[in-house]
Amino acid sequence: MNGNLTLTLCLTHGCNLRCRYCYAGRKYAHAMSQETAEKALDLALAEAQRTGRNLDISFFGGEPLLEWPLLRHCCTYLQQKAAESATRIRFGITTNGTLLTRDKLEWMAGRDFLVGLSIDGSPAMHNTNRRFADGHGSHELAAEALGLLACFPHLRSKVICVVNPANCIHLREGVRWLHDHYHGPIALNFDYWSEWTDEQFATLSQQLELVTDDLAGSYRSGHPMQLECMESKIISHLQNQPKDCLHCRIGEREIAVSVDGNFFPCSRMVGDGDDPAICFGNVSSGIDRARQNAIIATRGNATPECRLCEWRHRCLNTCGCTNYAATGHINRVSPFLCNLQQTLIRLADDMAEALYSEQNPAFLQRFYGAAK
Ligand code: SF4
Ligand code: SF4
Repeated sequence: MNGNLTLTLCLTHGCNLRCRYCYAGRKYAHAMSQETAEKALDLALAEAQRTGRNLDISFFGGEPLLEWPLLRHCCTYLQQKAAESATRIRFGITTNGTLLTRDKLEWMAGRDFLVGLSIDGSPAMHNTNRRFADGHGSHELAAEALGLLACFPHLRSKVICVVNPANCIHLREGVRWLHDHYHGPIALNFDYWSEWTDEQFATLSQQLELVTDDLAGSYRSGHPMQLECMESKIISHLQNQPKDCLHCRIGEREIAVSVDGNFFPCSRMVGDGDDPAICFGNVSSGIDRARQNAIIATRGNATPECRLCEWRHRCLNTCGCTNYAATGHINRVSPFLCNLQQTLIRLADDMAEALYSEQNPAFLQRFYGAAK
């Protein structure tokens, strides 16, 4: 086998929240039909078998738990279809948590789901952006969902915290809150769709420094935080190459299906599902190979400044969906991305150097496999 194929199904345009930074398109009651979902799963299974890959199916929205019966049907349908094949199937979901229940988690735990819970940390940080249509914040329900996750310690999970110009002032407090309430991986998703002013970026940098202090403190106390954006930089230093997730897979090993059955290179590029520049077929006519190959050919980084940069193998400069969000080009980085990546690398390196020179046991265990 040579890596997984990830198929993301956008089950609905509907959502009970109206997050201010949402990139998932307009919100209205419009769900994927069962027929479209089955066709997408058939195509994904055939593609996985054709390329000798295992298959990750990810449910996305809108809020995918609004379509719980359809989601369950997709899992059962695919498991039956794949029963005779060697293809290994895994499932995942990205949810705002407001509709999560113990029963649903139990069902997902029985199928080895990866649950990605979107929660932006403390009440102040979270409620800045993650609100219901009537304007009130959703933190209470998201925190309840986090509490439910803790009841399933063997369920694969992570929390996703979106950082944007409006909430970055609360970043340290937000990450502290997450570390106090959750012991799994914390993903900071920076908002590349927004314009960041110099002042806002300065605030973000200051907050990231404070977060890094807390991260170092968590190693010293023996209870390290799992902060993905920093860990990936440390690993990329140790391996002197990008962590696997930094190799962009869009359009090839990463395919998203819109509610209406159109194919897109990544879940973060679906939006309203109507951008012809990045659509490559649909479930009825199949994958348009010429369009798909054209998109794949644009991956990489054509920004001249990056060619000689010492950090080009440790930076997110080849992430196609991030580049597309910020610049409209899959292979062009934005100034915000460059500044942010340099900040993260510098902070991660300084922290790693200090912890290494202290021979911190938790740090050595995490990154060298055992205390030296
Ligand atoms: S919960 Fe997700 S889909 Fe719904 S508005 Fe927020 S970011 Fe968008
Ligand atoms: S740090 Fe900036 S210049 Fe260097 S590779 Fe990344 S985006 Fe390019």
